[in-house]
Amino acid sequence: MASDQPLPPGSTIGILGGGQLGRMLALAAARLGFKTHIYCPDAQSPAFEVTPNRTVAAYDDEQALAVFASHVDVVTYEFENVPARTAKFLAELKPLRPGANALAISQDRLAEKAFLTVNRIAVAPFAAVPDHDRLDEALAEIGTPAVLKTTRMGYDGKGQRIVRNDVDAGVAFELLSPKPLVLEGFIEFDKEISVVVARNTRGEIAAFDPAENVHRDHILKTSTVPADIGKKTAREARDIAEKIVTALDYVGVLGVEFFVLPSGRLLVNEIAPRVHNSGHWTEAVCITDQFEQHIRAIAGWPLGDPARMADVVMENLIGDEIGAIPASLAPSTQPHVYGKSESRAGRKMGHINRIAAKSRAK
Ligand code: AMP
Repeated sequence: MASDQPLPPGSTIGILGGGQLGRMLALAAARLGFKTHIYCPDAQSPAFEVTPNRTVAAYDDEQALAVFASHVDVVTYEFENVPARTAKFLAELKPLRPGANALAISQDRLAEKAFLTVNRIAVAPFAAVPDHDRLDEALAEIGTPAVLKTTRMGYDGKGQRIVRNDVDAGVAFELLSPKPLVLEGFIEFDKEISVVVARNTRGEIAAFDPAENVHRDHILKTSTVPADIGKKTAREARDIAEKIVTALDYVGVLGVEFFVLPSGRLLVNEIAPRVHNSGHWTEAVCITDQFEQHIRAIAGWPLGDPARMADVVMENLIGDEIGAIPASLAPSTQPHVYGKSESRAGRKMGHINRIAAKSRAK
């Protein structure tokens, strides 16, 4: 079948990664009549519980990848650290959506910042720190406070340290790995927001409303929608997200995280080529949620309407907080439990979408 034809129901969507995002993608796919096949090295993955088709193998096991590809019609992923070789190998066998280019850019903070800068999208001041010799030069250029980050494999605050002076910087350089690193100016932001945007194989684009995000211990705690920002800032955030998916010739859902400066000016912090934690609120209050939208996009289907029907707060349940379900559930809440076998500190175990009574009554 030509790859620009819509995939018919009954086709199989291959998903790399078996975490909660893979699980929610598989559930959304099933609702549209698709089968899913999950590929993940960890046999205990929560996504395995919602589909019978699984491969438990390493991401560099080309034999297992080839068999997986033979069982599926399109390949997608739920995390951005898919090895480049794996992406290339699979892309030669089946359509890989989003494409390998989006992965390569979002896996590397320097490549990401270069891409954004070329597209005239503002980011925090930064300087590459490939080795210790370049640290002083970067500090002189960026100043302190600053944030020293790994360019690769960083998430949920892992792989970064705040630097307040030269001594901090030296310690942080030794502690952070893998190298190379990047030094970013510390941004005194007013708030953090994100936009989840989708683009399909025909180039149609649909962005959800911006969410206002609060982190606790570097992990997303709440996403509140609508965000407390002006109309102009909201419009600009969506425009930037749309510009990014267009420039990447992107297919699928993508998350864009922003810092909002006190002036209302936006800086892009990072992009994620996948469904995004700060888009989980869409499940409760949008005509089409981010998971269905991703499946529609990669299946070559028309996109759904991202319109929001109520105000909402998404709260992540981290570690033991999952114990709040079911006892403390109010009627106007939508609980999601990821089915992880073990609750650990800092582990995302589920989330609750709290739907605001005021807008529900409208
Ligand atoms: P990241 O892994 O880059 O998304 O960073 C995780 C969180 O650390 C962000 O959501 C911010 O709250 C904070 N952070 C990261 N970079 C900076 C920065 N340059 N200035 C201030 N805060 C930052």
